[in-house]
Amino acid sequence: QVMGAVVYKNEYGENEEVVIVLHDVSNLKELELMRKDLVANVSHELRTPLTAVQGFAETLLEEKLDEETQAHFIKIIKNESIRLSSLLEDLLTLSKLEGAEERKTGCCNVKGAALKVVDLLNQKIIQKKHNVNIEIDEDLNVGVYCDYIEQVLLNYVENSVKYTPDGTDIKISALKEDNNFIRLIVRDNGSGIPLKDQKRVFERFFRVDRSRESQLGGTGLGLSIVKHIVEGFGGEVGLISNKDGTSFWATLPKQKEVC
Ligand code: ADP
Repeated sequence: QVMGAVVYKNEYGENEEVVIVLHDVSNLKELELMRKDLVANVSHELRTPLTAVQGFAETLLEEKLDEETQAHFIKIIKNESIRLSSLLEDLLTLSKLEGAEERKTGCCNVKGAALKVVDLLNQKIIQKKHNVNIEIDEDLNVGVYCDYIEQVLLNYVENSVKYTPDGTDIKISALKEDNNFIRLIVRDNGSGIPLKDQKRVFERFFRVDRSRESQLGGTGLGLSIVKHIVEGFGGEVGLISNKDGTSFWATLPKQKEVC
């Protein structure tokens, strides 16, 4: 903000001084644009499943359909409602993060966070016969609350579970960097992400294959949530992917003391 004083003559011919404060609004404008963009995207994303639910429900009510078609339509309605609720859940997570005025620092043991996330996803991991390995030193801690690092790991590991064929290996590891950060890495040996899409996967609502990923319950918000959290702590995110698999990484501030 810029401040300045201006002297002018008032209606009685006296000198009067006013202080002018100029706010730099370019940042605010940018935020406002981002918000408008998000609202437009969200409305679009909500409309698609809602239209499907409405359309199929109407057809079920109005047309005489054989049992098989009825069951098929009901299944679509069910899947689309599940999608709607994951979308709402992701949006709530995002808005909670956005609402947090300042990043509170905390302390969290990295291995503990990884174990908790694997435990949370255990049912899906067993269902898809994945082989999950955790390679993290017991004494590695980060300077953020566990909620944040768990959310980062959850989104990465859940994607590896979701987007790779049954029975693949998933490795969660963490390295100490030279600076004051640690690097979390989630590696899978799925079929990878096409090169042209790699730089877009952290964008809100971006999905490599919209129709396939919608069926898998994806919203396209998971990785943008990760980016949001990590950058909020001054860290970075990225990926390396080829036909032999994908490694997603994130850096978070290291915590020397024991939590
Ligand atoms: P979604 O809710 O669709 O999973 P994300 O933001 O988490 O959204 O991921 C964006 C897209 O990146 C996914 O739709 C998927 O196409 C791709 N993706 C993410 N992780 C992986 C992975 N481990 N292997 C292959 N593709 C992935």
